Amino acid sequence: MRLSNSAACLSLVAATFAVSAVSAQERVWANDQSIEQISEHVYRWGSDNQFGAYVLTDTAIIVVDGHYCGSGTMEWLKNELTQRHDVPVKYVVLSHDHQDHNCGTGIFADTATAVGHRNIVPHLTFEQRDSMVPEITFDEEMELTVGGVNVHLLYFGPTHSDNLIQVHIPQDRVLIAVDSAKGRNLFPDFRDMDINNQLDVMKILANLPDVDVVLPGHGPVTDQNAFVDHYNYLSAMKTSVLTHMAAGRSLQEIKELVTASQMEAFGDYNGMDRALTDNIVSMWDYLYRYRESNNRITGEEATRCVEDSTQCRTGL
Ligand SMILES: [Zn+2]
Repeated sequence: MRLSNSAACLSLVAATFAVSAVSAQERVWANDQSIEQISEHVYRWGSDNQFGAYVLTDTAIIVVDGHYCGSGTMEWLKNELTQRHDVPVKYVVLSHDHQDHNCGTGIFADTATAVGHRNIVPHLTFEQRDSMVPEITFDEEMELTVGGVNVHLLYFGPTHSDNLIQVHIPQDRVLIAVDSAKGRNLFPDFRDMDINNQLDVMKILANLPDVDVVLPGHGPVTDQNAFVDHYNYLSAMKTSVLTHMAAGRSLQEIKELVTASQMEAFGDYNGMDRALTDNIVSMWDYLYRYRESNNRITGEEATRCVEDSTQCRTGL
């Protein structure tokens, strides 16, 4: 009986592998490639719910970001830019190191120089991303002026990665806020996020002047309310997890309590079903490293400390 059960399990595993192999092969990329003009100089391009942008001036083009590896959208984009415009791509600005936002950018290396935050370079190198590596880097802010159009590159410290930048075109009142303008969409988790600074930066971006239109890396064109929506969710999540940690509750208890409270307040956010638990666990992990709980000193330890000050506990 056991044998036949094991055999059944094995064949189920084999069948699962076969199904996933087929679905991986069947993934159809980029059947929705598009370019949309957003303002006088700014265009949005992409496919598969993943978007970059480009800034067109009289003398050159600035491309912002790459695309999913294997989507073919970078090859398509290069062809489109050649057909539509008679100026070269001079710069490729990389919003951050995550692979889905820089793969395939090397296709522009014949005419363009890559630009990014100083911290992006080691990530691209260590992870061996299929990406241009910026020759031009900056620490806090940088201005690219091409054909009379000013493009402001802004870094507000570590947020979603330690190298994410904002691309602002003030004269067009457009902000390209890749993976920052999350709105009512959950991250899968907070794996490389500085959550405290992310909260501060959401307030800065929500109030950045000269912005009418906000372009996120995924999802529809939006506005600065997207930062407020993300702030509200993240802030409530942090406060809730921190409060329960300070009360000495276990991670298991925290998962149950925070799931209930977040579902009640933010049940209409996208991804709650698949990402909420991982959001709670990675928030707990961040706060575990952020805080120090109170020492619980036993009576015996207190007595030892009074009798011999070298025996006093100063930490855990
Ligand atoms: Zn990202």
